[in-house]
Amino acid sequence: MKVALEDLYQQLIMDHGRRPRNFRVLQDATHHLEGYNPLCGDRFTVYLKIADGRVADVSFQGSGCAISTASASLMTEAVKGKTEDEVEKLFEAFHAVVTGKRAPDAASLGKLAAFAGVAAYPVRVKCATLPWHTLKGALAGSKQPVSTE
Ligand code: ZN
Repeated sequence: MKVALEDLYQQLIMDHGRRPRNFRVLQDATHHLEGYNPLCGDRFTVYLKIADGRVADVSFQGSGCAISTASASLMTEAVKGKTEDEVEKLFEAFHAVVTGKRAPDAASLGKLAAFAGVAAYPVRVKCATLPWHTLKGALAGSKQPVSTE
């Protein structure tokens, strides 16, 4: 069972790495920010449209490795429709799992639990969290590009 679940997670990451969802410029974005991971060369811009305190729409553009691209893609699916507080809580839960501080919990993380395996590869943690740090900076209204270094 364990192997089957890991296979499923790997397929999910590969699928989103190859065919990222919400990969476009959001023309009517209320927030956007660039994020950069110099260690790997991942560079993305995250676009957000906030309406009534919720993520009405979210997208990203740029280029990066399969892990960062898949993470950005799954992130956009996960945060759409959520309030800023919910996004913050989801990021905290995701961060705890990819850094190995907490066991993956599919009930609260959904598909994002697929990144639990990243905890075994510290260099990859920055790839997986870059889109989230960028999203968080955009939400905070930051104009300074986010860098993982
Ligand atoms: Zn990367």
